[in-house]
Amino acid sequence: MGELQVKPAQAEKVNLLGLSIDKLVDFFATLGEKRFRAIQVVKWIHQSGVDDFSQMTNLSKPLRAKLTARAEIRAPKVLQQLDSVDGTRKWLLAVAAGNAIETVYIPDGNRGTLCVSSQVGCALDCSFCATGKQGFNRDLTAAEIIGQVWIACKSFGQLQLPTTGKNTAARKVTNVVMMGMGEPLLNFDNVVDAMNLMLEDNAYGLSKRRVTLSTSGVVPALDRLADVTDVSLAISLHAPNDQLRDQLVPINKKYPIAMLLDSAQRYIERMPDNRRKITIEYTIIREVNDHPKHAEELATLLATVPVKINLIPFNPFELSDYQRVSNNALRRFQQILLDKGFTVTVRTTRGDDIAAACGQLAGSVNDRTRRAERYRERAVRIVG
Ligand code: SAH
Ligand code: SF4
Repeated sequence: MGELQVKPAQAEKVNLLGLSIDKLVDFFATLGEKRFRAIQVVKWIHQSGVDDFSQMTNLSKPLRAKLTARAEIRAPKVLQQLDSVDGTRKWLLAVAAGNAIETVYIPDGNRGTLCVSSQVGCALDCSFCATGKQGFNRDLTAAEIIGQVWIACKSFGQLQLPTTGKNTAARKVTNVVMMGMGEPLLNFDNVVDAMNLMLEDNAYGLSKRRVTLSTSGVVPALDRLADVTDVSLAISLHAPNDQLRDQLVPINKKYPIAMLLDSAQRYIERMPDNRRKITIEYTIIREVNDHPKHAEELATLLATVPVKINLIPFNPFELSDYQRVSNNALRRFQQILLDKGFTVTVRTTRGDDIAAACGQLAGSVNDRTRRAERYRERAVRIVG
């Protein structure tokens, strides 16, 4: 049998967008270039928003040509950008393999929080979550994760060429929360690389207090997190006891509450700043976990843990029978915790008109064309 002659495929270009500083330095070493070149390029990408090597004027022409041949800077493609009347902005982004994800920006006074996705879908199947209902599709690459921040910052004019002088753009994205689609700790390495770029002075330079990883409790991964980063931590608790949490957050059967809270506490104890607290997220659902006895039980459970509690009224979506909590039950629940001395905030629903609320993110374009259509119709009404 004659041997099949296969022409060598052209080497795939390296996408520099998602490379941490260390990985970029390694890549430049393969080109025979020094570390400071990598730093220059990180700044061009993440501080100036440049995705074309020919604009990187402090690099020599031969180096620019070499980079153009070997590398690229490729963010997800923006399929839609929707603006809500309340200032919330949502992007539907195409990522590789025909998938789409969603990213949401929520302004609040001086703060602007970007809610970033880490996976297409989610395997953990929490019973109240639209992302979970769509099942797991794949992990996002580090470029697709940091690309969400890059796109948002660019859309607000936050990334500027040095030739425009001092960057005077008002900082719109001040905070990032890994609370979009997916479970960040199940995409550990890519999420860590992306978060470290968010913190990196030569990139976005956000303080570690302003970058938050939210997890439903993948304990072994959480145990490793403090080795590689020191971002803020949010735990999606949603129930004060294992029996109830088993029903809402199935991964609880593997890693129950006591184990999870221990791990979370170990994480913040390793942080240099001992004033840091764990944010406890509690999606409050009518007649499921909104009873005063749940609030009492939660207070007892968290009595010795340094926490602030964030109550998230359940946002209904098509495939769920759960209902939004009543205002009375919500106020009562909050008051019980306040009376016990906890800091308790209630997350107000934003971006209602563009379906941008927590737990409603489900941006697959393939099987949700009708939904995408509806977004488009609304977008025209809101923007146009
Ligand atoms: N997988 C991670 C991060 C993404 S979910 C986690 O579970 O923490 C981000 C937050 O949205 C979680 O606190 C989650 O419980 C909440 N959430 C999911 N579905 C929701 C819904 N329908 N209404 C309100 N909050 C929801
Ligand atoms: Fe996954 Fe978080 Fe949704 Fe649970 S709440 S299914 S962990 S995205």
